[in-house]
Amino acid sequence: GTEIHLRVRVAPLGNRFMLVLAADRTEEMRLDGVRRDFVANVSHELKTPIGAISVLSEAIEAAAADPERVRSFAQRMQLEADRLARMTKALIDLSRIQSDDPLDHAERVPIARVVEVAVDRNRVLAESKRMRVLPRVLDEVDVLGSEELITMAVQNLVANAVQYSPEATHVGIGVRAADGIVEIAVTDNGVGIAPEDLERVFERFYRVDPARSRVTGGTGIGLSIVKHVAASHGGEITLWSRPDQGSTFTLRLPIAGTTAPKEKA
Ligand code: ADP
Repeated sequence: GTEIHLRVRVAPLGNRFMLVLAADRTEEMRLDGVRRDFVANVSHELKTPIGAISVLSEAIEAAAADPERVRSFAQRMQLEADRLARMTKALIDLSRIQSDDPLDHAERVPIARVVEVAVDRNRVLAESKRMRVLPRVLDEVDVLGSEELITMAVQNLVANAVQYSPEATHVGIGVRAADGIVEIAVTDNGVGIAPEDLERVFERFYRVDPARSRVTGGTGIGLSIVKHVAASHGGEITLWSRPDQGSTFTLRLPIAGTTAPKEKA
């Protein structure tokens, strides 16, 4: 598949910070190192839930006479197994999309539909936190590429916006087009991201607060998928954030060219 490297730039602007990731297909060498790190990271990340499951199963054996404790250990074991399942799925998704160039078999993808599906897939999660996700589609345009991947990217951004926000707040999704680019901006009023973490949140497995992410079931892979989807569609992902006030993740993708009507002879 096509290898893509992302250039990272963090620019301070007043007391806000912006992170720009731009696709750069020329720096392929660094990827060998990234791939080696990947194997090391995966082993490390998988060891945590596997270790927990092992410890918990021993605890269940030792507590056999106490049904209350057995039940509590079994429940925790189930949580760890669920997490392991989610991580494995996310890793398989990531490796599957990275081995494929979505532009090889591109389809016209209506962004309005992408947003609708992404909101829909987060409905239960949002309702569990009494939150509303409010899309505002100003321009209805198409992008060339994989509908599945673009939807997965927007869905991940919305899931994060909900996940990292206090209950009963709102998430906005703004879609607008200008100069051949469509901008999909997902804004929350949540915990925000500190300037020193901006650059790192797009890295595989990076979580600002691993303890919190474990509770919410995070895998640390969602934003790597978003980054890859942006780059492989010739787009970019940018991030604005202010700790304790919120974040805006903006996905920019090139709009599909309109076919000029054929002239009759
Ligand atoms: P995770 O599964 O942990 O959410 P991601 O790759 O999607 O993994 O995100 C990586 C980290 O970036 C998260 O653990 C969180 O610390 C931070 N993050 C992502 N989105 C947001 C957001 N909208 N607000 C605050 N922090 C966020």
